[in-house]
Amino acid sequence: MDAPDYIICLECDTPVYTFDWDGIRIAGGICASCGNEKPMLFSTEEAYEEMMASEDGRHYGSGHD
Ligand SMILES: [Zn+2]
Repeated sequence: MDAPDYIICLECDTPVYTFDWDGIRIAGGICASCGNEKPMLFSTEEAYEEMMASEDGRHYGSGHD
């Protein structure tokens, strides 16, 4: 898998362009917005969109109260 153009900080939902890619996954990064530098708290754009899509699905199911 090629390195993405940017990753997304899951702490503050900000795109981060300064990060390390180990060929498969995010090896490290630093969020300029909130200072997060834990690899597990970053996501690729693709994974982030999947995550958002599944959360939207859940909101649809319980949005009629
Ligand atoms: Zn952040």
